[in-house]
Amino acid sequence: LKIIKEGKVEIKFPNFDKVSSDAPVFYNPKMEFNRDTSILALQAYQKEVDREISICDLFGGSGIRGIRYKKEINAVEDVSINDISPLANEFTRINAELNDVEVKIEQKEANNELRANMGRFDVIDIDPFGTPSPFVDSAGYNLKRDSLLCLTATDTSCLCGTYKEPCIRKYNAKPYKSEYCHENGIRILIGFAALTLAKYQKYIEVKMSHSSEHYMRTYLKVKKGSKATDKSLKNIGYIAHCKHCLYRKEYKGLASSIPEYCPECREKLIIAGPMWLESIQNREFIDSMIEIAAEKELNQKDKVLKLLNSCKIEANAPSTFYDIHKVCRALKISAPKLDKVFDKLEEKGFIAVKTHYSPLGIKTNATNKELMDIVEELVEK
Ligand code: SAM
Repeated sequence: LKIIKEGKVEIKFPNFDKVSSDAPVFYNPKMEFNRDTSILALQAYQKEVDREISICDLFGGSGIRGIRYKKEINAVEDVSINDISPLANEFTRINAELNDVEVKIEQKEANNELRANMGRFDVIDIDPFGTPSPFVDSAGYNLKRDSLLCLTATDTSCLCGTYKEPCIRKYNAKPYKSEYCHENGIRILIGFAALTLAKYQKYIEVKMSHSSEHYMRTYLKVKKGSKATDKSLKNIGYIAHCKHCLYRKEYKGLASSIPEYCPECREKLIIAGPMWLESIQNREFIDSMIEIAAEKELNQKDKVLKLLNSCKIEANAPSTFYDIHKVCRALKISAPKLDKVFDKLEEKGFIAVKTHYSPLGIKTNATNKELMDIVEELVEK
């Protein structure tokens, strides 16, 4: 057996050589960052609803996530930890006892757990192997008004467009492997969740989203109402992208008519989507997470705060970003200092912010042409 410490808990699980779905009981130390961030997000949600909350950790593994939620989040009424594996549940029981917390342990196929407990949870955390897609419909059925849906996806190669067909199969959307494919991927995931929940007259408010290491994660507040759901679906649409001159344009609406060729260079446009085109970060929510971080003991706090500050800045920026190297390659020039590009954009009155997706990324409302003119000017000098 192995024992590890994370946050305020100690967790035991059978030793294994390599983190994989073949481990007898799943534990991934790399996901501590995800769990630390989740604690802040769930606490911010609890503060927002201002009542005791009931949490469902749908894919429990060693139980670490649910046990940490019970131990480290204030005003938690109960936590249900579900896993299809009897051995995982045995360790959840051992670990709950070891940490002196009471949790409810369930051993159901995830969809059955959600279908059998409609409206029971304030928070549903879906942290499976690979894609959350097969579970989102049951979550849509289960979730009540003002609840929180947390989604992790580790099938990033499909969401980012390395493999197109699996993304179409799982998310009914076409990805595109551009410089901003990680952001596109999260937007596809969120768009898929919004469309799936819409069947149940439920719509989403996106609270916070990030792409880190090998996964994507998003926190969605769920609301109810058919009219508001119809309205919120207007936030879904497509991005048309020109890989030749880097032109890109958003088309909101599912029946958008999108031109076939780039209006600037006549290259054939690539169309990705449907995806969520409104902001995927909420400033107030992220501020609350940052404030809460001061009162929590988290090993990854500095890293989490860095991410939160970046996401907060991204909240009001456009849905895609440019990669300075890609811009310079298109212009056939060497790259200027990134800070100079930011300064120049701001000087000219454009939005210019960094992004957590890429150290070379520039989020700006300048068009490809405007940005390229600025970059050229800086290099000439
Ligand atoms: N959330 C955990 C954490 O933070 O450490 C990790 C969960 S691990 C990625 C996925 C878990 O889901 C495994 O323990 C596996 O046994 C369980 N599982 C896989 N398919 C399932 C299903 N259809 N229903 C319920 N549990 C399932």
